[in-house]
Amino acid sequence: MNRLRNLDIKYLKGVGPKRAELLDKQLGIKSYYDLLFHFPNHYLDRSSIYTIRELHGEMPSIQLKGRFINFSVQGVGAKSRLVGLFTDGTGTIEVVWFQRIKYLKQAYIPGNEYIIFGKPSEFNGHWSMVHPEVDPIAAAGAMQGLRGVYPLTETLRNRGVSSRTLFNYIHTILSTIRGVAETLPQEILVRLNLMPLSEAIVAIHNPQNNDRLQRARLRFKFEELFYMQLNILRYTRKRSAVIRGFHFPRIGHFFNTFYSQQLPFELTGAQKRVIKEIRADVGSGKQMNRLLQGDVGSGKTLVALLCMLMAIDNNTQACLMAPTEILATQHYETISELVAPIGINVKLLTGSTRKKQRDLIHEQLQDGSLHILIGTHAVIEDNVQFKNLGFVVIDEQHRFGVAQRARLWKKNSTPPHVLVMTATPIPRTLAMTVYGDLDVSVIDELPPGRKPVQTLLRYGDDDKQRFQVYQAVGRQLKQGRQVYIVYPLIQENEKLDLQSLEEGYELICETFPSYRVAFVHGKMKPAEKDYQMSLFASGQAHILVATTVIEVGVNVPNATTMIIENAERFGLSQLHQLRGRVGRGADQSYCILMTKVKIAKETRKRLEIMTSTTDGFIVAEADLKMRGPGDLEGTMQSGIAFDLHIANLATDGQIIQMARNMASDILDLDPDLTMQNHAILRNQLDVLFAKSINWGLIS
Ligand code: ADP
Ligand code: MG
Repeated sequence: MNRLRNLDIKYLKGVGPKRAELLDKQLGIKSYYDLLFHFPNHYLDRSSIYTIRELHGEMPSIQLKGRFINFSVQGVGAKSRLVGLFTDGTGTIEVVWFQRIKYLKQAYIPGNEYIIFGKPSEFNGHWSMVHPEVDPIAAAGAMQGLRGVYPLTETLRNRGVSSRTLFNYIHTILSTIRGVAETLPQEILVRLNLMPLSEAIVAIHNPQNNDRLQRARLRFKFEELFYMQLNILRYTRKRSAVIRGFHFPRIGHFFNTFYSQQLPFELTGAQKRVIKEIRADVGSGKQMNRLLQGDVGSGKTLVALLCMLMAIDNNTQACLMAPTEILATQHYETISELVAPIGINVKLLTGSTRKKQRDLIHEQLQDGSLHILIGTHAVIEDNVQFKNLGFVVIDEQHRFGVAQRARLWKKNSTPPHVLVMTATPIPRTLAMTVYGDLDVSVIDELPPGRKPVQTLLRYGDDDKQRFQVYQAVGRQLKQGRQVYIVYPLIQENEKLDLQSLEEGYELICETFPSYRVAFVHGKMKPAEKDYQMSLFASGQAHILVATTVIEVGVNVPNATTMIIENAERFGLSQLHQLRGRVGRGADQSYCILMTKVKIAKETRKRLEIMTSTTDGFIVAEADLKMRGPGDLEGTMQSGIAFDLHIANLATDGQIIQMARNMASDILDLDPDLTMQNHAILRNQLDVLFAKSINWGLIS
C-alpha cells in the first residue's frame, strides 16, 4: 500500500506532469493510491448488449455491437459534424460527433467490429447517438460489467478529462501492479466473509455485477469504520488504564444538606439512576468522560448540580460551561438561587463580565473560595486558572469543539471529570463514532405532571388559518399564558429574514394591542437582547417574537404556545429543540408549525414526524436518515476522526456496530496490538492517523 502511495501519477502512462498537476489541484489525486481510492459515485451498466431493433423511448446509456457503414462530414464551420452510420444487422443508427472530427474520421475503420456505448435518442423514426464511447471489439472485453462513473469537476471536463479517462488510468494501474497488499488481517476477512482488497478494488471500479459491487462496498465501508473504531477504542482504553482521575470517595455535607433541605422536588427515577452511574465513575479513581443525553425538559441541570456538589464535598471546584450568554446566565440564576442557602459560592463569567468582577473571580478561583464557576467559553480561556478543578459540566456540547474540550485538561495536573450534556438526542450508532470515547447515560423520563406538547401543522399564507391560529393565541394570553413566535434567521438571506421578522413583529403588535411584545434576534447587541429576554422571562412581556436565539435552554414554564413561522426551513432536530421551550409547566402546551400551502411532499412528510411524536430520539433518527449527519459529522472531522470516504454514518449503523464489536474483540485479546498477526493493524493505524491529533488525551 505504501508503495502505491509513493508512486506519483505523473509517471502513469498517458498522464504526464501537466495532467498530474491538474488532477492534484482538482481532486487531490497525487499518487497511484489516490487514484485507486477515487471511487465511482455511480455506475453504468455495460453488462448487456442491445440490438438496434430493441431500442425504445427513454433508454439510459446502452451498448451496441456492430460496424460502421460509412462516415460523412455534414454542415459547415462551427456547425460541422461527423456522422457515422452504424449497423448491427437489425437496423441502423447515426453516430454523431461535433469535435475532433478529422481525427475520428481516420480513427474508426468502416467494416471493423466495434462496441459503442451511449444514450440513444429518436427523431422522426431515426435513431442517433451523440459522442458515444467506441471500442474495438477486442479492447471492449475489458469493459464488461458495471463501469464506474467518477466525481469530476467542471475544470477537468473542460480540459478533456472525462470519467472514462479516469477509468482508463485506473485500469492501467490495475493491470501493471501485481495486486494490492491486503490492509485487513486474514482472520477478520474470514470471520466476516469480507472480500479481499485485491478483489474489492477491481470490483469497486468495474464490478461484474451488482452483487459483487455490494460486497466490495461492504468491505470498504467496514474497513473505514473498523479502523476508526479501533483508533477510538485503543486510546480510550489506554487512557482509562493510565490516567488517574480525582477520587471522590464521599458524599458529604453540601450534597446531603442540599438533598435533604433544598431539593425543590423528588428526583425522577432516571435522574437518580444517572447520578448513581456518575457516582460510581467518580468514586473509582478513574477519570470520567460521560455523555448525558436527555430530552429537553428532562431535568439535566439538577443532575449536573448534584454532581458539582459531590465534587465540592471532595475538596475540588466545579465549572459549568454553556454555549450562549443567555443560557449561562439562566443557569447561573437557577443554580445560585438553589445553593445560596447552603453557603456555596457561585459566580458567572462571560464575555461581558466587568474587569473588577473578573479580577475577583480569578482571585477566588485561585485561593479556592469559589466553588462553582458558570459561564460561556470565557471559562476555558487560558488565564482562567483554578486551584483545583475537579468536575466540569458542558451543556449542549455539540457547539463546543473537541479542541475546546481539550483545553480543560491544561487546567490541572489531574484532569477533571467531564460530563457533557445534550438535549439533541444522538442515535446510538452515531454516538459511537462521534462521541466514541464517551460513556453514555440517558435520562429517558420526564418529570411527572408534564403533558406532551400538541403539535399542529397550519398554513401561514392562508388568511383563514392564520386568523384561527391568532384566535387560539388570544385565548392562551387571556388565561395569563405566554407565547413564543419564532422566525428563521439564516445567514444567506439575512436581509430578507430580518425584514420578515420585523414585519411579523409589527403584525403581532397590531393583532394583540393590549399585550406587551418582546423582540429578540441574533443581530442585537447582547445588552439589548438580554433586556428583551428578561422582559419575557419575568412575565412583563406576554409574547416573544424571536429568531432561533431562544433555541437552547431558555426556561419559561408559563409559556404554553409556540408558533414557528416558515417551519419548513428548519431541520427536525432544531424544531424539536424549539418545541422544548414549551410544555415545561403543568398546562397543556401547543406548538404550531406554519408553512406555505405549497410545500414539497417530502417536506410535509418531514414535518408530520413532528406532529406524530414528541420523542426526541425518534425525531433525531428520522432527521439523521433524511439529512445525514451534517453538523455532527462536522464535529467529528474537526479532529476526532478522518473524513469518511465511503461509509455513511446515517445509513450504515449496522456496519458501525459490526466494526465496533470487531475492534473491541481484538483489543480484548491484544490491547497493544503487539501480536504478530496484528502487525497489519498497527501499520494501518499509523498510516491513517499519523496526522490526526492524539485525542486519546482529550475528553
Ligand atoms: P433540561 O434537561 O432541558 O436542561 P432542565 O434541567 O432545564 O431541563 O429542567 C426543566 C425543568 O424541569 C426545570 O424547570 C426544572 O426545575 C424541572 N425539573 C427538573 N427535575 C425535576 C423533577 N425531578 N421534578 C419536577 N421538576 C423537575
Ligand atoms: Mg438544559
